[in-house]
Amino acid sequence: MKLSASIDNAMPELVAIRRDFHAHPELGLAETRTSAFVARHLEALGFEVTTGLAKTGVVGTLSCGTGSRSIGIRADMDALPIAEETGLDYASKTPGLMHACGHDGHTAMLLGAARALAERKNFNGTIHLIFQPAEENAGGAKIMVDEGLFERFPCDAVFALHNEPNLPFGQFALCDGPIMAAVDEARITVHGRGGHGAEPQETADPIVCGASIVMALQTVVARNIHPMDPSVVTVGAFHAGSASNIIPERAEIVVGIRSFDPAVRDELERRIRMIAKSQAQSFGMRATVDYERSYDATVNHKAETDFLRETAIRFAGADHVVDLQRPFMGSEDFAYMLKERPGSYFFLGSRVTGEEKSLHHPGYNFNDDLLPIGVAFWTELAEAYLAR
Ligand SMILES: [Zn+2]
Ligand SMILES: [Zn+2]
Repeated sequence: MKLSASIDNAMPELVAIRRDFHAHPELGLAETRTSAFVARHLEALGFEVTTGLAKTGVVGTLSCGTGSRSIGIRADMDALPIAEETGLDYASKTPGLMHACGHDGHTAMLLGAARALAERKNFNGTIHLIFQPAEENAGGAKIMVDEGLFERFPCDAVFALHNEPNLPFGQFALCDGPIMAAVDEARITVHGRGGHGAEPQETADPIVCGASIVMALQTVVARNIHPMDPSVVTVGAFHAGSASNIIPERAEIVVGIRSFDPAVRDELERRIRMIAKSQAQSFGMRATVDYERSYDATVNHKAETDFLRETAIRFAGADHVVDLQRPFMGSEDFAYMLKERPGSYFFLGSRVTGEEKSLHHPGYNFNDDLLPIGVAFWTELAEAYLAR
């Protein structure tokens, strides 16, 4: 069957599936409904289905011909703890949870590709479709890798995409090397001495000390990191106090840290710890720092990115494919799959009017018009990689 005809026929069902996922969002490692649907759907299409990796992860495997080559394509399935404000008739039925990152669309796209690949059987080798849990927080990709994903399902290369409402509709944005940053989090607690707001001399005010730490943290990227090394230090939360006549006992500062170079990552941690500790000391107080390393940087491999670019240009035309001039400072746990296997991660633009809400916004909704493009591209990429 011709690819476009096969995809057009399946589109009404696929849109319904995507909207059903949207109405039933599930948090990371709890995607039981989504995961069960994915497993049933793949089975019905003739895939060999493995469940239970990283609790709710699913791998669908399909072989054709005698070829020994294999490709892995990943989709993420989890939603976010955000109260939906889209007003859609298929909006989240679970209060406080929503698909605000389009993982409902990513999962539907890969299911659509599964159908096209199974119907056409136009490849020689093995395809592993990897549906991972918990991209947003718990690192489902890393858990799957740690549980032996690539030993059980050997992939010569792995690929993944993310929709991006800030890029023009249908644009492929890719790059060789680093594409997403490493992310870490520091929780700084300033331990003061509370008391009456009218008698500051009897207290040790953690708010004033904390404010000083916030300002001093602004110097880390500006003064300690090489200007050509991308990094971010963002104070995302500052919790302290309750009323104008009370000096609180403690202040808590939560810092998000992004970087690419491992040496820069170490230096950021060293400076943040030192600033927190020394600033507090200068106020006669004490600061404790709980520093947690989260996702590593997502680094694309050259040969696979070249193949991706070539395929995208053939698929969409050169004017719809851009090489990113700089990586994104967001993060992605596909990083851990790319540390084990060569591959490439890219963005697929979904902006039409410029009014689209950004990812993680309560008014965001995945653009269904992107489904046929994603389905056709994954199908072409897999078939090209495993060309007869
Ligand atoms: Zn997200
Ligand atoms: Zn996402």
